[in-house]
Amino acid sequence: MQDTPRHKGMRKQLIDELKQMGIDNQAVLKAFDQVPRHLFLDPVFEKQAYSNVAFQIGAGQTISQPYTVAFQTSLLEVERGMKVLEIGTGSAFQTAILSKIGAKVYSVERQSKLHLLAKENCRHPAININPKLFFGDGYKGLPQYAPFDRVLVTCGAPFIPDALIEQLKIGGIMVIPLGEDGMQIMTKIVKIDHETYEKSTYGDFSFVPMLNNTAK
Ligand code: SAH
Repeated sequence: MQDTPRHKGMRKQLIDELKQMGIDNQAVLKAFDQVPRHLFLDPVFEKQAYSNVAFQIGAGQTISQPYTVAFQTSLLEVERGMKVLEIGTGSAFQTAILSKIGAKVYSVERQSKLHLLAKENCRHPAININPKLFFGDGYKGLPQYAPFDRVLVTCGAPFIPDALIEQLKIGGIMVIPLGEDGMQIMTKIVKIDHETYEKSTYGDFSFVPMLNNTAK
């Protein structure tokens, strides 16, 4: 499938909707204009790809609602050139938003099927991004590439994984939906020093759970 002027028009409408919902980060809105969401979805969802809804992407997982992606990315305060660790690559739509903002993205996925799908999506000529994608357990992060300026978790985490805090730079920001059973509280963490971090919360969201270990 291709990216066409019709799809671009639908993106503009989605961006207007995101603005009305309170998203005002210009870098985030611009990235939404550049990422063809329909190419991350099963072709049967093409017509609804730019509505503000989540979709199944296989292996029992979902691509988050556009508003959720925009909200999390805004909270993360990403700037061009930053090193970002993402947990839960899924379709790589969020990966693409971060990449278009200019971040160097390192993304981990525990489902091998989705890891492969994400790789394929990133190579599509209309998406054309080159993040570093890893098949592994996000609870462990990527110690060999640490420290990161930002950490973004896109699955519902029952607690803040120690490894992820450790791999965050001092002064860095982590955004993580915290909680179990389909309901999480969006949480922003600023790492003040090796022992202290500041936590603030931003309302309820619903994510698929962050699970242990990898799955074939
Ligand atoms: N950011 C994705 C959303 C994917 S949903 C997108 O834009 O499409 C969350 C993803 O987190 C799922 O793909 C799930 O398999 C993955 N996940 C769950 N637990 C994980 C873990 N411990 N490590 C890495 N990925 C995990």
